[in-house]
Amino acid sequence: MREKLARFMAGRNGVDQLSRAIMYAVLILFIASVFTHGKLSSVLMMLAVIGIVYMYFRVFSRNTAKRRAENTRYMQRTYSMRTYFRNLGERWKQRRDYKFFRCPSCGTLLRVPRGKGKIKVVCRKCGNSFIKHT
Ligand SMILES: [Zn+2]
Repeated sequence: MREKLARFMAGRNGVDQLSRAIMYAVLILFIASVFTHGKLSSVLMMLAVIGIVYMYFRVFSRNTAKRRAENTRYMQRTYSMRTYFRNLGERWKQRRDYKFFRCPSCGTLLRVPRGKGKIKVVCRKCGNSFIKHT
């Protein structure tokens, strides 16, 4: 069974980040259509179905060059958004041990250990320093 699948997928695009993003969008559309009524619900459901079809089209596509280009474009366009959410996740994980400040002059996010009292924070990017309580 696994071999059969591997043979079937040979030369095909497979699941990439864009396909995964479409899958999440489809899931959200589907849930939204369940909780809405009438025309809006049907439109959301239709979009979800189109999304599923498009996702499978990309996964099984043999035009891997084109699919890879699409995926790269998607990754470039969403880079700042993905970085933002990854940073949020990291800050949440480190919230017990570190405090985060933005440099008042350049806006860089700075990480400082908690529980050190009043300290002078020096920005690693622009060298600006400011006093903060941790
Ligand atoms: Zn700075």
